[in-house]
Amino acid sequence: MAFIDEILEKPSYGWTDEKGNFYKPSPKELIKEFFSRLNVFKNKKNWLAFTSWVSILILFPFFLLFIFKYFTWKLLIVTFIYSMIVMGSHGTVWYHRYCTHGAYQFRNPFWRWLTQNLVLKIIPEEIYVVSHHVHHAKSDTPGIRTMLTVVFYIAFLPM
Ligand SMILES: [Zn+2]
Repeated sequence: MAFIDEILEKPSYGWTDEKGNFYKPSPKELIKEFFSRLNVFKNKKNWLAFTSWVSILILFPFFLLFIFKYFTWKLLIVTFIYSMIVMGSHGTVWYHRYCTHGAYQFRNPFWRWLTQNLVLKIIPEEIYVVSHHVHHAKSDTPGIRTMLTVVFYIAFLPM
């Protein structure tokens, strides 16, 4: 059994059915699991996912303000460039290559700090890194489409 299998918390519906086949959870089971992983009273480890989701929810009214009060095509283009190019590059350079794979090192701590803080921080590094290691460890295993569905609902697997 791989190390990642040892540290991942088994979902309430389990990974496999009674025959050992990959179990595809129903949407109801996924939603139940999603909210159980956000319950900070159940497990203190849920604080990480909870605070991340709260950050996203706090930003949602600003999205609505943008759409209904301050919308301009120029701002939409700026938003598109920020989200697709700046955030995408940050995700690749910081979260993926540096944090997850340790693909390079910074000679100067200033550049490390700058790279880390290029964009508004919503997803903690821990959530991205663990989820990405799961992605690499499990991407070729049976049931990956179900796994992706699970990740979509749970939005990163808390340990
Ligand atoms: Zn990777």
